[in-house]
Amino acid sequence: MLPPVAIVWPCALSVDAYVALGKNIEAPRPDCPSCARPMTFWSGYLRPVRVLGRCRNVFVRRARCARCAVTHALLPAFVLVKRLDAVEAIGQSITAVLEGRCGVRPVASALVVPHTTARGWIRRFSSRAEPLVVAFSALALELGAEGSGHRVGSTAQRALGALGDAFMAASALPGWAILGPSRFASAVSGGGLLCTNASSPYLVIGKRRFMPPVPFPQQTKDGTGGT
Ligand SMILES: [Zn+2]
Repeated sequence: MLPPVAIVWPCALSVDAYVALGKNIEAPRPDCPSCARPMTFWSGYLRPVRVLGRCRNVFVRRARCARCAVTHALLPAFVLVKRLDAVEAIGQSITAVLEGRCGVRPVASALVVPHTTARGWIRRFSSRAEPLVVAFSALALELGAEGSGHRVGSTAQRALGALGDAFMAASALPGWAILGPSRFASAVSGGGLLCTNASSPYLVIGKRRFMPPVPFPQQTKDGTGGT
């Protein structure tokens, strides 16, 4: 039984560009996670996202499956479920601290988030590190990673390494590299990277719950993807 999670689509737009499009945002039309039939767009709602201390309201489309009588939110990959801050802030905080580049306070200050919030992300990621190692390692292999060898460090550091491996492998496929590792992590986890509610949330990977990126040539910002 699939949890009632959001469907995350691999949006490569900046938050500003997404906001500017308002309700005209064009999310890809998903298939129903339960019955695999094409879903229809079904209204939407506004949701806040915080970037560098500034909150913006973004329009989140919903999709509905008539057969299953369910709707799912179509979250852009720059957010995580139930998290206010853009996923890049979350990813940068976790990475900087776990890699030992700086403490929580300086990175939180640079990203204009309360340090207690950033500390909460790192604790949550660390507390879920074991299943994350398994899930991201499996995904990396599934995506054709050469193999990361034996990793050292804490379980959380190994989870981060496995995420990096999976993202590297995905980056060889069209459209993923431009997202960056944080949006990639959101996309493949159904926005649930930091959720605790499921014992094996990363079934979404095995079940291919993430949507492949839709190439938008105009979104190629730095030549790293979008082909
Ligand atoms: Zn359905």
